[in-house]
Amino acid sequence: MADRPTSLIIVVSGPGGVGKGTIVDALVQRDPQLWLSRSWTTRAQRPGEPDDAYRFTDVAEFERGIETGGLLEWTEFLGNYYGTPAPDFGSLDDLDKDLLLEIELDGAQQVKNRHPDALLIFVLPPSRAEQERRLRGRGDADHRVQARLRKAELEEQVGLRVADHVVVNDTIESTVDELASLIEAARR
Ligand code: 5GP
Repeated sequence: MADRPTSLIIVVSGPGGVGKGTIVDALVQRDPQLWLSRSWTTRAQRPGEPDDAYRFTDVAEFERGIETGGLLEWTEFLGNYYGTPAPDFGSLDDLDKDLLLEIELDGAQQVKNRHPDALLIFVLPPSRAEQERRLRGRGDADHRVQARLRKAELEEQVGLRVADHVVVNDTIESTVDELASLIEAARR
């Protein structure tokens, strides 16, 4: 069999409102060697959110996915399920790109436990005020924004401990540059 380097798993995690989605979208635009996984969620689609932002499932379908081992990792986040589908890439050996995941910290730790070589990058917001502004900009109800901010504080404490690298998202350009360098270094 031809020799091919094993695919790298890159996990981008961080509290809500930090800009993870924008960062990973910019990374895949720039680097055709990255393959971005599309998560499953039971959360309702937000107004204006693209249909392919997630695979939007109901609870029964998600729980079937759990039972049949169809998820690489999954968690419950503020009352909804979120998970990374395993079938999309089957075995990692069959994937000829590097796998990029944009997930919250509990799932990130599950991936890291299963694949200790995975690169776990934790992104922090430039400030609490900016994070709150971004969370409010999505149109979520106030109690949901508050819940996400409280959750973010807990996530940060753990994230700083378990991540391979911590990056502050001051500007999107500098953050994407920094992540691209970290990925290049891990590939070498
Ligand atoms: P949101 O509802 O804002 O789209 O996502 C809430 C949180 O769930 C975010 O931190 C997001 O990164 C995370 N998330 C998205 N997809 C997954 C997934 O497949 N697994 C896990 N564990 N978290 C996810």
